[in-house]
Amino acid sequence: MSEERTSLAGVGATPRSGVGTAVRYAPDDALDLDDATSADVDPETERDRYEAAVEGAKADLERERERTAAEVGEQEAAVFDAHVKFLEDPQITDAVEEAIEDGHGAEHAVRNAFEDPIEQFEGMDGRMGERADDLRDVRDRLLRELLGTERTGLAELDPGSVVVAERLTPSDTARLDPDDIVGIATAEGGRTSHAAIIARSLAIPAVVGVGDALAAVEDGDRVLVDGEDGELVVDPDAERVAAAERDDAADVRRGPVTTTDGRAVEVAANVGGPDELAVAVERGADGVGLYRTEFLFLDRDEPPTEEEQYKAFVDALDAFEGGRVVVRTFDVGGDKSIPYLDVPEGDNPFLGVRGVRLALGSARDLFETQLRALLRAAATEHGDALAVMFPLVATVEELTAALDAVESVAAALDDEGVEHAVPELGVMVETPAAVMNAAELADRVDFLSVGTNDLAQYVQAAARDDDHVADLHDPRYPAVLRAIARTVEAARDADAWVGMCGEMAGVPENAELLVGLGLDELSASAVTVPAVKERVVETTYGDAETLAERARSAETRREVTELVEP
Ligand code: PEP
Ligand code: MG
Repeated sequence: MSEERTSLAGVGATPRSGVGTAVRYAPDDALDLDDATSADVDPETERDRYEAAVEGAKADLERERERTAAEVGEQEAAVFDAHVKFLEDPQITDAVEEAIEDGHGAEHAVRNAFEDPIEQFEGMDGRMGERADDLRDVRDRLLRELLGTERTGLAELDPGSVVVAERLTPSDTARLDPDDIVGIATAEGGRTSHAAIIARSLAIPAVVGVGDALAAVEDGDRVLVDGEDGELVVDPDAERVAAAERDDAADVRRGPVTTTDGRAVEVAANVGGPDELAVAVERGADGVGLYRTEFLFLDRDEPPTEEEQYKAFVDALDAFEGGRVVVRTFDVGGDKSIPYLDVPEGDNPFLGVRGVRLALGSARDLFETQLRALLRAAATEHGDALAVMFPLVATVEELTAALDAVESVAAALDDEGVEHAVPELGVMVETPAAVMNAAELADRVDFLSVGTNDLAQYVQAAARDDDHVADLHDPRYPAVLRAIARTVEAARDADAWVGMCGEMAGVPENAELLVGLGLDELSASAVTVPAVKERVVETTYGDAETLAERARSAETRREVTELVEP
């Protein structure tokens, strides 16, 4: 294609631009099976091979999950739990076993067993349709185990590569090194496919859903990936490249932003550890809206010490030099397990011991250690900017117990003569109970922060890691929206500030609605901060309030979506 300058339209998945060399990636090539029937296979041997492949795939997924949790994010890692569930899905396992019984080799049995479910998902709209990619990912993992082939080397691409592929699976994407890969372009996929979510977390410019036209892009073509406008330009001219580079840098707004009529909205970043602070600063975040401290506990054999945590918190405060840093006390349990912690296991971890329940229960010692580190950090140079919040609060009793713990830790530090201060304190609103108790909770703290990832899961009764109900797990459903509105009102009535740190806050199209609902702070993955800030400065608060009012009386998700994305 190289002679001609071509622009291909797609969907922007990561709002950044990158220019580099196209590398075509075809993950399935090595997995092509010939169509020969295999009547002389021994079913028992094939069954054993299949079972071994499933075990191998599970072990591999567990490693992938850990790596993604550490390098990308816990939420992004949850996709691999869903993959384990696909491996165990009776529709698939029964079909494989039947095919083996009928005399097929394990490879053919696997390939055939996945055909129907993949087709079923492909026929569905939106997020459900995108689950077909996840199924292909699981199928190919099993085939690789059976064939003994290695995954094509996406981890070893040359610096400056733009990966061009029909589709990327979540594990392909999680493997990309953001230092080397300057862009991604895929023919298939949507903004909410797992690969797109992972690309966003890694801040890799990405355009997905380009369609058949992408086939014309050849290995070695110079391409520009414009993830803001959803465009892929082949052989871009110098002016276009310079404009993209300028935009990427100019997009970053430093300092506080306001709406056109002067309402201040803080736009902060969600971080999972010290490594992510620099990116958050670079992307112009005003501070940290959610520091997921449980990540400090991952990938090690014992909990971090008070000193380690103190240093991590002081580093965050110093990185933002007075910009607010909201630290969440560890939220372990649910889908986040830490092997060396003794978390009571129930049948349904999302409804079991997690968050503040664990902190006030068997992990009380660790909770107090973390509070010591926090109270000490609050007394350092930028310590005034520290805020601390508790996850998964449902009852006033839990909040009272957590606040009592802060008081007793402060008293102990006093007795020891250790310098400390009590930071702003807040509650994460992520359970329906917290919404119903929002007034009473807000009365007792300085702020509330809405965690829409969990709130949507509990309000909609749709597990956040279950792809079968992914479509229901959407904060644009009126029930979730009304829960958010109610929380904001309760906070305002109690003179507490109110933020949002769930994924909903990181979708730029939601910004006007959220500002209109009255949120004071929006916190999202660092890469989306510039796009969210951009939306805030384009918003007029008066109009946003009208929009929010209309959204509150919407009866369906479709109506809400039509309002925010007209
Ligand atoms: C949330 O639930 O929206 C949230 C921000 O917390 P996490 O995703 O870490 O559970
Ligand atoms: Mg949560």
